[in-house]
Amino acid sequence: MEENFNIRKDNIALADREFEKQLRPLCFDDFKGQKQVIDNLMVFVTAAKQRGESLDHVLLHSPPGLGKTTLANIISNELQVNLRVTSGPVLDKPGDLAGLLTNLEEGDVLFIDEIHRLSPAVEEYLYSAMEDFKIDIMIDKGPSARSVQLTLNKFTLIGATTRSGLLTSPLRARFGIKFHLEYYDHEVLTGIVKRSAGILNVRVDGAAAVEIAKRSRGTPRIANALLRRIRDFAQVKGSGEVDLEITKYGLNALNIDKYGLDEMDNRILSAIINKFSGGPVGLNTIATAVSEESGTIEEVYEPFLIKEGFLKRTSRGREATELAYKHLGKHFGKKEETLF
Ligand code: ADP
Repeated sequence: MEENFNIRKDNIALADREFEKQLRPLCFDDFKGQKQVIDNLMVFVTAAKQRGESLDHVLLHSPPGLGKTTLANIISNELQVNLRVTSGPVLDKPGDLAGLLTNLEEGDVLFIDEIHRLSPAVEEYLYSAMEDFKIDIMIDKGPSARSVQLTLNKFTLIGATTRSGLLTSPLRARFGIKFHLEYYDHEVLTGIVKRSAGILNVRVDGAAAVEIAKRSRGTPRIANALLRRIRDFAQVKGSGEVDLEITKYGLNALNIDKYGLDEMDNRILSAIINKFSGGPVGLNTIATAVSEESGTIEEVYEPFLIKEGFLKRTSRGREATELAYKHLGKHFGKKEETLF
């Protein structure tokens, strides 16, 4: 039973990945928003190309779904080099990394997703590769084992992280270019929805595109996923065209409220308000109350709730704001009874 479920989960993930690949912008011109980051990156990429050198190592930091992987693809396309993709948890031991590094051609881009999850041994191994483009590898076994230094082709490491605070300072210091991606505003997201609709050949009217954008938590990945779901509703319950009416119907059916908060966002807010008198309350306590991992709450849910003004992070813990009370139809100031 468990196995079946896993297979299904993998299939879904694969379908999502295929879908994302289809919609992923391939050049700077197609990448919407993040203007300052893009303007700067274009300068650095052009300068590296003009000098015929590899681009400095790049660190990208943002919550999930804001375009880190997309940017790595674009950078390698614009540099006209190969892109190799891996992720922190996959690189188990230094040997895994050595295999990847020795296969890189001059100027290639190596993308390491979730770079904060590298094991300390692999991370340390990366230092000399990033700095001097050299690595030590062990050859032979037993008494004749010895270490040999290899010179690598110059490459660009692009590291992506959702938790820049977990990165060690020696690793962070080895990146010459560091960018933080912000949540997208409604206007930019509307443009992304329209572009995706064009690629998917879905008819979407202007008001529906704006509505999907507004409810996407400032995140292109969510905007694209919602578009895909609303397309299903339009096909089965509507005329096939994504208009405002079917969009609202679909978003309601998906439990996405008018601020774009989903079920988990609302559960977090109502736990803080109803169970902990609005806070302050610690992250782990919230995580237990809503049965979600604290890391996921911190990386995925909290940044958006803070940005939109529903939540405050104080030295004593998390606190619900007046807006959160209003949103849940509760009276601010009069603290609710604590249940625990
Ligand atoms: P991350 O690596 O930060 O989790 P991705 O780069 O995988 O996010 O982006 C998720 C999806 O969102 C991509 O498939 C892409 O289609 C879309 N996307 C992200 N950023 C943009 C953007 N600025 N413009 C258009 N589409 C975007």
